[in-house]
Amino acid sequence: MAAKKDYYEVLGVNRDASEEEIKKAFKKLAMKYHPDRNPDNPKAEEHFKEAKEAYEILSDSQKRAAYDQYGHAGVDPSMGGAGFGGAGAGGFGNFSDAFGDIFGDIFGGGRSGQRSNVYRGADLRYNMEITLEDAAKGSETKIRIPTMAECDSCHGSGAKSGKSASTCSTCGGHGQVRMQQGFFSVQQTCPKCHGAGKTIKHEDQCPSCHGAGRVKQQKTLSVKIPAGVDEGDRIRLTGEGEAGINGGPTGDLYVVIHLKPHGIFQREGGNLHCEMPISFTTAALGGEIEVPTLDGAAKMKIPAETQTGAVFRLRGKGVKPLRSSEHGDLMVHVTVETPVKLTEHQKKLLREFEDSTQKDAGKHSPRNKSWVDRAKDFFG
Ligand SMILES: [Zn+2]
Ligand SMILES: [Zn+2]
Repeated sequence: MAAKKDYYEVLGVNRDASEEEIKKAFKKLAMKYHPDRNPDNPKAEEHFKEAKEAYEILSDSQKRAAYDQYGHAGVDPSMGGAGFGGAGAGGFGNFSDAFGDIFGDIFGGGRSGQRSNVYRGADLRYNMEITLEDAAKGSETKIRIPTMAECDSCHGSGAKSGKSASTCSTCGGHGQVRMQQGFFSVQQTCPKCHGAGKTIKHEDQCPSCHGAGRVKQQKTLSVKIPAGVDEGDRIRLTGEGEAGINGGPTGDLYVVIHLKPHGIFQREGGNLHCEMPISFTTAALGGEIEVPTLDGAAKMKIPAETQTGAVFRLRGKGVKPLRSSEHGDLMVHVTVETPVKLTEHQKKLLREFEDSTQKDAGKHSPRNKSWVDRAKDFFG
């Protein structure tokens, strides 16, 4: 997948652009690239989708903050999306929800009735690196995550005790205002209450959350990692995401598993692979060696005349993947090792051995023989 473009670049605005500038930039692009105006033009559609996605994030102060801090990972819609959950994600062509305020009557996507100001809290993503052993056997671990939680002092109302929010005088509680622009009547998010429909006088705001109803918090969670998880697996902790807005449901937390590289094993689904050097004597005569497994050392027979590259399978010594009933195997890749730091005496023995094989070299070195035969054919 290609790297995603920077949302600010997509809209062609500065990082400190105001809400108004962002809206204006999107509107310009949307008018230019809207599919209704560019039928059968995939390039335009691509531009439109890009701009739509950028606008969806940057027009929402919370998502924008997440994007500024964490980049695309903070607002990844494939994760269930920071706050995409409630708004009907995807659905190209049906943008009446997020875009009613921009397009209003222009493209016939206007909403009817009153806008709902209740939002589901954002989903959160936590990247967790674990060892191969923990992934294979499962484990339990504690994580600390920053999150937005309902403010304790005001229980989410955002108002001082005894005070309450009052209906926004600008929009009459609708969260939306209609504006006349040329021939069009355009619906926009209320600039005073930012769509909430309610405002709290400065002196009535809850001092803990300054009227937001939610506060930043660190929370510690215990995460059970089931045995067999693999790279990229996600564990969903329902209701452990951010608190909802105006009493909306809480988002979810997704813990995404990443496997640390292992010193011995490479994992491939349920199977493990490892390289095992053996002496050339063992390779020639056969023998028994010890190989590492996740459950400790295991014995393995090496047959006589084993060559480098031979692979031996130890059944059931791999990993049992999360969604499988079968245990994988351990694949041992054998490398025949050339002896080093030989004494004069050992060298002499090897030369004697070499001499003894010269009489019928082809018989003792099948690979060399077949190579020589092929070379002869090649050079005619
Ligand atoms: Zn509060
Ligand atoms: Zn308002």
